[in-house]
Amino acid sequence: TEKNVIMDETAIRRALSRIAHEILEKNKGIENCLLVGIRTRGIYLARRIAERIKEIEGVDIPYGELDITHYRDDREGGGDNREQTDKAVVNSYLTLPPGSTGTRDKKVILFDDVLYTGRTIRAAMDALMDCGRPRMIQLAVLADRGHRELPIRPDYIGKNVPTSRHEQIEVSLSEFDGKDEVYIISN
Ligand code: 5GP
Ligand code: MG
Repeated sequence: TEKNVIMDETAIRRALSRIAHEILEKNKGIENCLLVGIRTRGIYLARRIAERIKEIEGVDIPYGELDITHYRDDREGGGDNREQTDKAVVNSYLTLPPGSTGTRDKKVILFDDVLYTGRTIRAAMDALMDCGRPRMIQLAVLADRGHRELPIRPDYIGKNVPTSRHEQIEVSLSEFDGKDEVYIISN
């Protein structure tokens, strides 16, 4: 097994700063925007982007958390959970900040750490639609490892990481893992 760093702390910080600026540019500000992080590490990414936007624009942007399912978070265990992910929307739930008016007519920006087949995002979109029809859904990911099986494309990408199906990406974020680093693991 080989493990190589593909993003260090500085690279992650710069990528997130760039994404914060891209979000502001694309949406011409943040009016009617809602950031939604997908458990677990997408939540920290959404929070960091909210902090950056606050620094840049001086405005608070609401953010929520979406729990799709737990079994895809640790892919090291192997196995194919695609079918579960497709059904996972049944068990998903969305947590919004107090005083939030929901997802209806909002521009929702979804955050996840790694994008792979796209099935998790499809489930996330289903869950959002069930909470009130958003005006628009955008997607931000820290790493896009390719191998899409659905017509899903991120609007904001930290780093494109072409992988083989045997390779995996490990995302370490300081809030949860003690440090900021992204690795590629080849077996
Ligand atoms: P997808 O549903 O697109 O196949 O997979 C994306 C979901 O599975 C994300 O929530 C992501 O956290 C996780 N995932 C998929 N591939 C990887 C990977 O190589 N590394 C990590 N850390 N997570 C992955
Ligand atoms: Mg995940």
